[in-house]
Amino acid sequence: MPGQAAERTRTAEALRIICVAGARPNYMKIKPVMDALEARGAEVVLVHTGQHYDEAMNDVFFRDLGIRPPDRYLGAGSGSQAEQTARIMLAFEPVVAELAPDAVVVVGDVTSTVACGLVAAKAGTLLAHVEAGLRSRDWSMPEEVNRVVVDRLSDYLLAPSQDAVDNLRAEGYREDQVHLVGNVMIDTLFANRERALAAGALEQLGLTPGGYGLVTLHRPANVDSPEALAPLVGALAKVAEELPLILPAHPRAASALRELVATDRIRLIPPAGYLDFVALQAGARIVLTDSGGVQEETTALGVPCVTLRDNTERPITVSEGTNILAGLDPARIVEIAQRVLAAPPAPRRPALWDGHAGERIAEVLLGGGSAATRLRPTDLAD
Ligand code: UDP
Repeated sequence: MPGQAAERTRTAEALRIICVAGARPNYMKIKPVMDALEARGAEVVLVHTGQHYDEAMNDVFFRDLGIRPPDRYLGAGSGSQAEQTARIMLAFEPVVAELAPDAVVVVGDVTSTVACGLVAAKAGTLLAHVEAGLRSRDWSMPEEVNRVVVDRLSDYLLAPSQDAVDNLRAEGYREDQVHLVGNVMIDTLFANRERALAAGALEQLGLTPGGYGLVTLHRPANVDSPEALAPLVGALAKVAEELPLILPAHPRAASALRELVATDRIRLIPPAGYLDFVALQAGARIVLTDSGGVQEETTALGVPCVTLRDNTERPITVSEGTNILAGLDPARIVEIAQRVLAAPPAPRRPALWDGHAGERIAEVLLGGGSAATRLRPTDLAD
């Protein structure tokens, strides 16, 4: 269909781009992309799926990051993986039909990412995936399924690091689809670091820089059963004998943690807002986490990180940063944490984690290129 290809070479001013966000780790990734697209004249429509919807996991991020209220709110809410995916798809499809965007941008690896990616691909709209190519190679993680599927659906694969580019090449993606753009999460971190430090979270919590360790836990495999969580809490209690720990508890894990934590050296607090959490990371002597984004932010901040997982989709934080993959064996976690406290790893920052990834993404998307004129499934159906 030559008409479609011609239409897709429209000037940047004319481009309408839907940016999708829906859960905590999306907001800090979509913001720099929206800003860079709008600065170059694109019309950005922010669609919020409603996957996360409460004050602590959602509203505070819009305030802290200065994101405007969503243009469309899908209200897809909670539910099982399939229920959520289906609800988001049902709600997103008419929005895409009505707005006829030139492209849809999805970020990260949450349910909203894959659900909206599926809708966009089947509607024949160009799809861009920010954070493409990350692989844990652990198919038991819902996020890994989301990553692989959304990359397969995408026209533009916007990779945060060279390892992600290598993964995409190994999986046979075309060179002109793959763009090494750097890490948008770090754009947001650098843009807000000074403001975060000035906001006074440490003082409010009675903490001093270097005087505590910070913990987050929310991966289903770690927190959904007491059999998995209890040994981790046991290891944390041991580390806490040396250094008090603060743990902003994800709603998924909060009640189980309240049951299992039996020492006042581990302090449970509600999930922190973005600025407070950045300040907590920056001031920590060590961070213990199963979060993806926290592995990256600690690397960029040069704060030692011990990852409580057997694998990571962010190996660059291990090879180029301050992250150490400890696995789930409690004795090993304690040993590694003690080693890190005694001799912290030297800070190093991966290439292109420089605060300008959003701008590079906008250049790719608005620059067109051969991915923008590639045949879509709808073209092939004729
Ligand atoms: N974060 C936050 N408050 C918290 C815990 C995390 O603001 O209490 C931020 C953190 O700084 C990072 C993002 O949430 O920007 C990471 O999200 P999360 O750990 O939920 O998801 P993942 O990165 O594992 O997908």
